[in-house]
Amino acid sequence: MSDLRVVINGAGGRMGQELLRAVLKGDGLALAGALEHASSSHLGEDAGVLAGVKAVGIAVESDAATHLNGTDVVVDFSTPGASVRLAERLGETGTAMVIGTTGFSVAENAAIEAAARRTAIVKSGNMSLGVNVLAALTRRASAALGIEFDIEIMEMHHARKVDAPSGTALLLGEAAAEGRGIHLPDWTAKARDGVTGARRPGDIGFASLRGGSVVGEHAVIFAGPSERIELVHKAEDRRIFVNGALAAARWAVGKEPGLYSMADVLGIAD
Ligand code: NAP
Repeated sequence: MSDLRVVINGAGGRMGQELLRAVLKGDGLALAGALEHASSSHLGEDAGVLAGVKAVGIAVESDAATHLNGTDVVVDFSTPGASVRLAERLGETGTAMVIGTTGFSVAENAAIEAAARRTAIVKSGNMSLGVNVLAALTRRASAALGIEFDIEIMEMHHARKVDAPSGTALLLGEAAAEGRGIHLPDWTAKARDGVTGARRPGDIGFASLRGGSVVGEHAVIFAGPSERIELVHKAEDRRIFVNGALAAARWAVGKEPGLYSMADVLGIAD
């Protein structure tokens, strides 16, 4: 079987560079291109050198069109605007896509759903096996516990993260809402400050901490009358997301158009 030809979007970023290393060293994978924005300082740089491996003769570029012929899958960890523009292009060419980027607006999510009507897209706020199992546990606990258990989701990430709550916190919030059979946007409490009044029963609360080099920590807390359950996940290395993203890339190629989750990839969807 020939190697899977992979393009990385956001190649100069923390995740992008980890992905470049993994693709260049991975069995059955071939780097087909490395993309960045038009004013990136990495443009023209050899992707292998950027990843700290060795020169591979593939320069970082800003024009996706160069790579789309013959590419099997694009793995994207960039910015929401960049992900949407690329998803629309890949919808036209039918190239599979894995989106790890977080922080999408409602309109941007709708644009990705539209693109997924024409090609297979796996999108997840967290690509790790552990967090997706945590989401499944959260859904179950939330379904089993009554509304007298207040649900709060706490996350901590490194100081340079630009969006909050994290995509993972929102993914866990969705899982909790699904368990309760409610629509998350109607039952969300974010950013409490000042005299907020009492907590509304049934709300799912979010709290975001930022600092240092924390890769990602999430806790789902079910605070009931006189007892509390806490489900916690701690990411220790970005490679858990890289491994998940590349598993998603392998899985997505050849799939029918559609918007898929990591639960689909891991075979743990309900
Ligand atoms: P990062 O270090 O800031 O990397 C993002 C990269 O994308 C940067 O090199 C950035 O360039 C580049 N970029 C900006 N605009 C672009 C465009 N139009 N086209 C192509 N590339 C563009 O961030 P990161 O830590 O790697 O994270 C990237 C995203 O993945 C974030 O949304 C983060 O929350 C998410 N994430 C998801 C998971 C998951 O499991 N789903 C795990 C980790 C991170 P400049 O630096 O020059 O702007």
